[in-house]
Amino acid sequence: MASNDVIKNYIDGEWRDSVSGTRIEVDDPASAETIAVVAEAGPKDIELAVAAAQRVFRDRVLIDMHPYDRGRMLFRVADALEARVDEIAAINCAETGKALELANGEVQTAIRYLRYYGGLADKLEGRSIPRGANLVDYTVRSPFGVSAQIVPWNGPLELTARSLACAIATGNSVVVKSPELAPLSGVELARACETAGLPAGAVNVLTGYGQTAGQALIEHPDVRHIVFTGSITTGRTVLKTAADRIVPCIMELGGKSAAVVYPDADLDCVVEAVRIGTFLNAGQNCNNLTRLIVERSIADKLVERVRVCVEGLSVGPGRENCDITPLISQNQRQGVERACQTALSQGARLVTGGTALSERSGYFMAATVFADVARDSNLFQQEVFGPVLAVTRFDDPGMAVDLANDTHHGLAAGVFTRDIDRALWTADRLWAGQVYVNGWYVGGVETPFGGIKQSGYGREKGQEALDGYVQTRNVGIRLSQPPSGN
Ligand code: NAD
Repeated sequence: MASNDVIKNYIDGEWRDSVSGTRIEVDDPASAETIAVVAEAGPKDIELAVAAAQRVFRDRVLIDMHPYDRGRMLFRVADALEARVDEIAAINCAETGKALELANGEVQTAIRYLRYYGGLADKLEGRSIPRGANLVDYTVRSPFGVSAQIVPWNGPLELTARSLACAIATGNSVVVKSPELAPLSGVELARACETAGLPAGAVNVLTGYGQTAGQALIEHPDVRHIVFTGSITTGRTVLKTAADRIVPCIMELGGKSAAVVYPDADLDCVVEAVRIGTFLNAGQNCNNLTRLIVERSIADKLVERVRVCVEGLSVGPGRENCDITPLISQNQRQGVERACQTALSQGARLVTGGTALSERSGYFMAATVFADVARDSNLFQQEVFGPVLAVTRFDDPGMAVDLANDTHHGLAAGVFTRDIDRALWTADRLWAGQVYVNGWYVGGVETPFGGIKQSGYGREKGQEALDGYVQTRNVGIRLSQPPSGN
């Protein structure tokens, strides 16, 4: 392949081939065919990118800018994306396999993050602290420096945009390590940064593998801040590395989110929440609805309604806007199949699905529902990251909350009931970073999001996210004595 067909890395305001000259092939998950080839970044490319970002920080290029101007830069990045929404959505759909409508929503959400944090850039204020006569004391909310941002493949554009926007709004410079399975959306974001005229080196976007490029990035001595979005297993590795240099991290990790369904719930609403929450993007969302905790008397009726809905879902490529789109890779699908086999061997009852749709090209997996899932089983406890729902019964509200909370995760949770007292009682006790009532994905760009327990810490989205991108410094000033006679 000619080197000009290869998609390059964006380093210090330029598009550069990798130093090693090695490549990563990007597949369309719906056909398993290669759709693009990108230059594989390695440690030497990371070195160049961090050096550029560090120069921007050391020279105070972003810090000394009026915050309003940093915000305006983010608006221009948003404008550049908006000018190409359909084109970028098609790229996002092709590399992730998700439905085109969903990919379009991802571009729109990325644009909203850029505008939301662009608008907040000049509203992050310090405090003045009264300390009596002759002392003036104030706080400054300062950036960390080079922010390393590691992104997963399931939402490669919006997840990159949300962290990048917070970092630039607060004056940090950024090196993004894009996901090796879906790097093309990050390239489009880099193009938008270039079009928007961001200073060279303020944002660098590279694609490489986690254990080489990712590890080199988080180990780099000039990286002073890490935003990691990905699995708990990789998150642990990142934290251990960060601990060596005491680098602060925002950890956005996996989930095993449960919804409690009381007998007075609107079951149409629950079924719709399952359709969206469990099966959009083939279940590959960190906060997807993976467990239904259902009151015993309505469990059979609800499971039957969910089965009918699930078996009616269309299966096919994202570009046709089908309901069940492929998983990202063969590897991912094998993991989901294994999880289904383990669920069966641990006594769960298969209601529908449970197998790969191998008659199709691409990495399709049947939408799957298991009932009678035991709390100590793998399916109840471990993230599958595929189109698989686990149903478990409860007898009383205390048991429902106990079941919902009984995993190491705590990213999202939900409750379905028409009784507001019961909804609030339950929402208060569901130990998760976001709680949804009578719906799923009820959060938005402006609502804080993040984990409790092993789902991580720090917050993205909403105004709270900015707190994770600044460190408070304090300045105390001793004044000379006031002139006598005053
Ligand atoms: P992953 O942990 O395998 O990879 C995530 C990223 O980390 C990739 O870019 C990968 O290349 C990189 N990486 C791997 N090893 C690394 C290392 N040693 N050093 C630095 N980087 C390394 O996760 P994934 O399979 O890409 O994504 C799915 C996971 O992400 C799921 O667990 C999902 O729940 C989670 N997720 C969380 C959120 C959130 O906001 N909480 C959002 C999306 C996805």
